[in-house]
Amino acid sequence: MQTHNLGYPRIGSHRELKKVCEQYWSGRITLSELVTAGANIRKENWKLQKTAGIDLIPSNDFSFYDQVLDMSLMVGAIPERYHEVILQKGRNELDLYFAMARGYQQHGLDITAMEMTKWFDTNYHYIVPEFKKDQNFKMFSTKVIQEFMEAKQAGILTKPVLIGPVSYLLLGKEKEEGFERIDLIQNLLPVYLEILKQLEALNAEYVQFDEPFLAMDLSEKELKAFTYVYGEIKKAFPSVKIILANYFDCFGENLVTVLSLPVHILHLDLVRCPSQLDDILDSGKLKVDTKLSLGVVDGRNIWKNDFDQSLALIQKAKDALGEERILIAPSCSLIHSPCDLDLEQNTESLPSEVKQWLAFAKQKIEEVVVLRKLIEKDTSVDILKILEHNQQAGRNRKTSSLIHDGRVKNRVVSIALGDDQRKSSFNVRQSKQKLALNLPLFPTTTIGSFPQTTEVRSWRARFKKGDLTKEAYEKLLEDETKESILWQEDIGMDVLVHGEFERNDMVEYFGEQLAGFAFTKFGWVQSYGSRCVKPPIIYGDVHRPEPMTVRWSAFAQSLTEKPVKGMLTGPVTILQWSFVRNDQPRSQTCTQIALAIRDEVVDLEEAGISVIQIDEPAIREGLPLRKADWQNYLDWAVRAFRISASGVKDETQIHTHMCYSEFNDIIQNIADMDADVITIECSRSQMELLDAFSEFNYPNEIGPGVYDIHSPRVPSKEEMVQLMDKAKAVIPAGNLWVNPDCGLKTRHWEETRKALIEMVAAAKDLREAV
Ligand code: GLN
Ligand code: ZN
Repeated sequence: MQTHNLGYPRIGSHRELKKVCEQYWSGRITLSELVTAGANIRKENWKLQKTAGIDLIPSNDFSFYDQVLDMSLMVGAIPERYHEVILQKGRNELDLYFAMARGYQQHGLDITAMEMTKWFDTNYHYIVPEFKKDQNFKMFSTKVIQEFMEAKQAGILTKPVLIGPVSYLLLGKEKEEGFERIDLIQNLLPVYLEILKQLEALNAEYVQFDEPFLAMDLSEKELKAFTYVYGEIKKAFPSVKIILANYFDCFGENLVTVLSLPVHILHLDLVRCPSQLDDILDSGKLKVDTKLSLGVVDGRNIWKNDFDQSLALIQKAKDALGEERILIAPSCSLIHSPCDLDLEQNTESLPSEVKQWLAFAKQKIEEVVVLRKLIEKDTSVDILKILEHNQQAGRNRKTSSLIHDGRVKNRVVSIALGDDQRKSSFNVRQSKQKLALNLPLFPTTTIGSFPQTTEVRSWRARFKKGDLTKEAYEKLLEDETKESILWQEDIGMDVLVHGEFERNDMVEYFGEQLAGFAFTKFGWVQSYGSRCVKPPIIYGDVHRPEPMTVRWSAFAQSLTEKPVKGMLTGPVTILQWSFVRNDQPRSQTCTQIALAIRDEVVDLEEAGISVIQIDEPAIREGLPLRKADWQNYLDWAVRAFRISASGVKDETQIHTHMCYSEFNDIIQNIADMDADVITIECSRSQMELLDAFSEFNYPNEIGPGVYDIHSPRVPSKEEMVQLMDKAKAVIPAGNLWVNPDCGLKTRHWEETRKALIEMVAAAKDLREAV
């Protein structure tokens, strides 16, 4: 029985990759220093996996930015606008690569970056390949070959990893009309064959093809492409052992096709879909010369493996197929896990009791190896001890009073029928709110945060280090808040915000104040390029020991007669941007968070806050991969939002905010959230994103963002009026708000001031035009 790993984190346990990339981009280190740093990370990772006892160790899982962009470079899918970068003297492949990832403004060129989007249902972002109708593919980058040789020189025969040709095409976008990207498969395949030829010549034994689209709904044509591709590969290279990897969900309807493919190893994600092992074994259709790689160790979450559960699955496969036909593996690449739990010290934010339940990438690799030893009946003292610890931790988790809180569980069970419903229907609420708030037509507001200047961030850093007392820190924040309130009043904003100066991050800020959350010091995961995130860990029943935001909202409200909007992060977004406990359904955890937010909403109302925004930017990204599973998710997600929002009287106005606003397929569910006002991103699409709302006759109020906050550019009053004129054409004027696309925390004050003054002037013009 072999052990197998699909991919190892490439950021380095101390985010070495981030640091060297950023140094290179700003010209502080040379190309060769960057290249050496990359090589060091790879060598460390290979050594670590080898020492741990992994048989099939990946190469080409390293990337300086993104593995999909690596593929685009490999197959020469380089959009024309970058050709100038290639032509420039002294530019090398990595400069071209970074230009594609980040745009290029040098030597008289100004080229935009390629688009970025989320990798399936993860928080990792990849660079979207761009295809033209007559797209030519030609082997360009030989990175995969080079890294294979590099490992070989270090004494390790690796298993190169590639994104399979079908998924690679499906990950991309057509950049002109008149073709489907899957039709490019015949053009693309020869490049893959060329790579395989070179790898075979270098004695590569295994090659891994990731085809995560096998977890998605596929068309007939797309399925046929799989049969074609893997048939051709087998014909051309009968002796290269092909591993076909699927993850994040079941094969589902695609299973019949998958089982017919001539591949040496089929990798299954048994964490997301344990039932597919039975499906495959019972089908009797697994080819006799195909092995199964059992992904039993969760690559997407941070919990210690449940050895007993994994052993049962492995044993079942072993009984059916024999041990030669089985490999043990993590469920997917470990790039979605933090690197190394050993780096974490016991702290208040990560108690040792919680720590014993966790495993990061390095520990997951060890788990894979231990599982093999256990199934092979290794009875050495060490192994038995590890098993015992594992079982003990599992038992402890089932009963720990850190996790289980009877009051929280009871409260969830006793949620009453009307608790997810406002007292009256929207129409009734709307007229009561008009009276209570007395807002003009086209009211102006912002999305919550104001610039987090270097100063503001330095106060927080000093406070955390103990260089600033709590009193001194809060005084600075109060002054900053006060200044922003007075300024908003001064320019004539209608609904003010306090500015969120006290917050580090919109999820972390709440997690730190909620029971049931833990925080690591080094638990970084790549989000995109050099950007890493450190998601909180939800380990236990969630409740709110004390009010979280009332102090700041009440302070801000005390400074003005105008309404100041209370600002909260919604339950679905808190869930989505955390590592979530796996010992109960996500829906349950989400409901617990919803109740905690509900308490906060009620307390804000009591403190005199009459407008409260519950941000839910992550609602859409939480959608399951398969459409058949959408309804169930949307039901509990929308209910969680409603629970959080429904504890207040009719006069209190509930807002929500979402950044990505392509809502065509879930507009009914957005309406079901029943927020009094929803603010969305719209300016970059020239209000096109509003169409979903107008076609649906969306009943509640909407603030379609009138300017893009991602750029320092100051929009003019006229262009904002123009955008609002477009909005007026499809949404009743009495339901429209005027606001930016998103929060302003990444902006500077200079452009923010100018932009908002223009925005308020635009609203005035709109009112006068009525
Ligand atoms: N209230 C948050 C802010 O303004 C919303 C951020 C977001 O939508 N991602 O920063
Ligand atoms: Zn936003």
